[in-house]
Amino acid sequence: MYLPDFDYHAAASVEEASNLLGSLGTEAKLIAGGTDVMRMMKEGTLALKSLISITRVKDLKSITHDQEKGVVIGALATHNEVMLSPVLQEKYMSVCETAHHMANNQIRNIGTIGGNIANAVPSADFLPILIALGAEITLQTSSGSRSMPLEDFFVGPRQSVIKQDEILTEIIIPEKGFSGSNYHKFGLRRSGALAVVGVAVAVTMEDNLCKDVRIALGAVAPTPVRVPEVEELLRGREISAALLEEAGQVAAANCRPIDDIRGSKEYRQDMVRVFTRRTLRKAIDAGHV
Ligand SMILES: Cc1cc2nc3c(=O)[nH]c(=O)nc-3n(C[C@H](O)[C@H](O)[C@H](O)COP(=O)(O)OP(=O)(O)OC[C@H]3O[C@@H](n4cnc5c(N)ncnc54)[C@H](O)[C@@H]3O)c2cc1C
Repeated sequence: MYLPDFDYHAAASVEEASNLLGSLGTEAKLIAGGTDVMRMMKEGTLALKSLISITRVKDLKSITHDQEKGVVIGALATHNEVMLSPVLQEKYMSVCETAHHMANNQIRNIGTIGGNIANAVPSADFLPILIALGAEITLQTSSGSRSMPLEDFFVGPRQSVIKQDEILTEIIIPEKGFSGSNYHKFGLRRSGALAVVGVAVAVTMEDNLCKDVRIALGAVAPTPVRVPEVEELLRGREISAALLEEAGQVAAANCRPIDDIRGSKEYRQDMVRVFTRRTLRKAIDAGHV
């Protein structure tokens, strides 16, 4: 597999990258780590005249905590930088654990959290846990920016609301007072495999009472999805084994998986039942977010 010819632009700022994207049009794309873009260009599933790299843009890599905003993750932070971030290890260990279970060390060293989101692949691992934690994203152009809840970004497999000249610059996880969170990736191998089912839970417990909960599923619908039916079932209830089993069943009944090489629709639905129950239990027992 050889790469076709293309023009390469190394933008020094978000403004420059946005202007290039606007002027070069739909035959140009951003490249961050390149783990998806390069593979698709080699395979011939993505034909582009120009690539615009943003890896030289400063200030898009940091992971910081801001008292008002919450945890702010730069879109260019790699999976390994997310995994090893002291801020995330203290505030949202579940996000670090998610990064740890992604791909392999080489990919984790160059693949970025922004690329994982912008790609809009339904099985992408960061999406369910960030949605469960209520993350918001910022999209920036040379003339302004807009923010939205991450869950509103996706419209279909590899499709999102991003405009041609927009750049995803940061992911913000606001303080929501969760007592525990967890992401379970169920793949066909222990590592290096895409999720067949991904379940993420963020919960606020008071003793055994579920005060609040957010649940997001990956790889079982055209986009990552919340399951409000399960959240409503659990909110304000004392947690019991029977309630968690019911939660799994309701989640399975409310997702829309497809048959593919990694699992049938029925298999995925059953795995949603099992892993919703288990991930809820882990988040409830976690004692940390
Ligand atoms: C061997 C292998 C294993 C993998 N395993 C996993 C896995 O276990 N879990 C998983 O979720 N993924 C996995 N992936 C997919 C991939 O590594 C991730 O999706 C990665 O996070 C993509 O980031 P990137 O920086 O390499 O994106 P790129 O390839 O550079 O870009 C991907 C897309 O996002 C756009 N983009 C990138 N950054 C931005 C930005 N800041 N703003 C707007 N658009 C942007 C690009 O234009 C492109 O359309 C794997 C890939 C490989 C090759």
